[in-house]
Amino acid sequence: MPHIVCEPCNNCKYTDCVVVCPVECFYEGETMLYIHPDECIDCEACVPECPVEAIFHEDNVPDEWKNYIEINAEKSQDAPVITEKKEPLADS
Ligand code: SF4
Ligand code: SF4
Repeated sequence: MPHIVCEPCNNCKYTDCVVVCPVECFYEGETMLYIHPDECIDCEACVPECPVEAIFHEDNVPDEWKNYIEINAEKSQDAPVITEKKEPLADS
């Protein structure tokens, strides 16, 4: 039962979350990040780091964002890993 990045992450990319992840399981999509479900160890370190509260344990994902469980699983497969904080890409 991994953690899931949900809709509020779209267009944020402050990426405060990635630096605290002990297993480097965040992957960078075009508009948001994804957590690889087979790599996340549920340490919860990333949850309080996210300023928009986009990260939830799979069991606690709000109903309207349940589809992000599948989206994280799919998108994390072919996105590049991200381990360092980046500038937001909103203006690029
Ligand atoms: S801090 Fe939150 S909104 Fe920003 S990239 Fe990480 S999960 Fe997404
Ligand atoms: S819960 Fe822990 S292992 Fe999972 S993505 Fe967040 S920081 Fe990484």
